[in-house]
Amino acid sequence: MASFDILVTGGTLPDGTVTDIGIRGDRIAGMGDLAGAEAGEVIDATGDLVSPPFVDPHFHMDATLSYGTPRINASGTLLEGIALWGELKQLTTVDEMVERALTYCDWAVSMGLLAVRSHVDTCDDSLKGVEAMLHVREAVKPYLDLQLVAFPQDGFYRDPTARANTLHALDMGVDVVGGIPHFERTMAEGAASVRELCEIAAARGLLVDMHCDETDDPMSRHVEALAYETTRLGLQGRVAGSHLTSMHSMDNYYVSKLLPLMAEAELAAIPNPLINITLQGRHDTYPKRRGLTRVKEMQAAGLAVGWGQDCVRDPWYSLGTGDMLDVAFMGLHVAQMTSPEEMLRCFDMVTRVNAGILHLEDYGLAEGRLASLVVLDAGDPIEALRLRPDRLCVISKGRVVSRKARNDAALALPGRPGSVRRRHPVG
Ligand SMILES: [Zn+2]
Repeated sequence: MASFDILVTGGTLPDGTVTDIGIRGDRIAGMGDLAGAEAGEVIDATGDLVSPPFVDPHFHMDATLSYGTPRINASGTLLEGIALWGELKQLTTVDEMVERALTYCDWAVSMGLLAVRSHVDTCDDSLKGVEAMLHVREAVKPYLDLQLVAFPQDGFYRDPTARANTLHALDMGVDVVGGIPHFERTMAEGAASVRELCEIAAARGLLVDMHCDETDDPMSRHVEALAYETTRLGLQGRVAGSHLTSMHSMDNYYVSKLLPLMAEAELAAIPNPLINITLQGRHDTYPKRRGLTRVKEMQAAGLAVGWGQDCVRDPWYSLGTGDMLDVAFMGLHVAQMTSPEEMLRCFDMVTRVNAGILHLEDYGLAEGRLASLVVLDAGDPIEALRLRPDRLCVISKGRVVSRKARNDAALALPGRPGSVRRRHPVG
């Protein structure tokens, strides 16, 4: 008879398959009907959605949970956020950054978010943020995969020491090469930064993820440069463009030329809907642009597009909970991805697609893969998007790392049921 350390019974996978999942050590050791198997612990997931963990491909963990320090962002713009962060990073200590990041990781784990790609600012000569995030990466490794991007927030060329500090951060062990071409002094310097940063990644064998064209400028052309350099250097499938909000405002003819170039480069795109809808369009009156890139059009062109969170309680965004379902919910609305197929795709974007963008190994619910999963108080992915429900159980690398009791509302209504859960299965 098979025996497992943990047996998750009767759960429904995102594709609708009902299955038991047997876990031995840190691996999924059995799937299918495992009735009669012995297990150290049984978790009954009958009727509940069992998903591979959520993955956030775009975050700023060095800034998270700092909201209000030393002041709030009064204008609500990207540029005031950058200025505010410039003040904060002088004041904060390595210990404070570590503590805030570890607290955020606790939140993430409780939401079933077990892999995060975080940009870390390399425009500080002390590289405090890099030191802090490298420490956090090791501390959370047993339960959360943290991938770090060297991010020259104040401009790879515009900031006088950013280039040297970014290279130093990569020498210290930061995983991915970042950039911010739209913040360089000129379009030409932005393109040059894309070129050199991609060359650095190619020479070091690293992935690339740049903040790219996070503006409302219809003439911004750094996505084009990123696609060109990716193809020139043979980095296909290894480069992501984050935000790409200028594409919202670009001329349609130009986009019809740009999308095939992006597809040729196998670029991944990471829109961040909570933040893009908040920060962009701030210079408009009405009609007011919604600063989200062209998600459905990119997907139709064959690009990997994954929703990112970007910010939680920091100089750019006062809200956020670490719930990737909130992110997908906002993205679904702003991109008008409302058909059943599109809603399922939104769930896929915050799980499987994002795992692919991060090049995570052993991700997914199949025998032999890492035993990481989340049990949700919902029947299927669309219901999960609608309810953004409790995460009843989170398992990371074979260990239960978070639990939450099912918590139905108790009603006191004449002639009505005594409790309500708000589930509403189709048919
Ligand atoms: Zn960002």
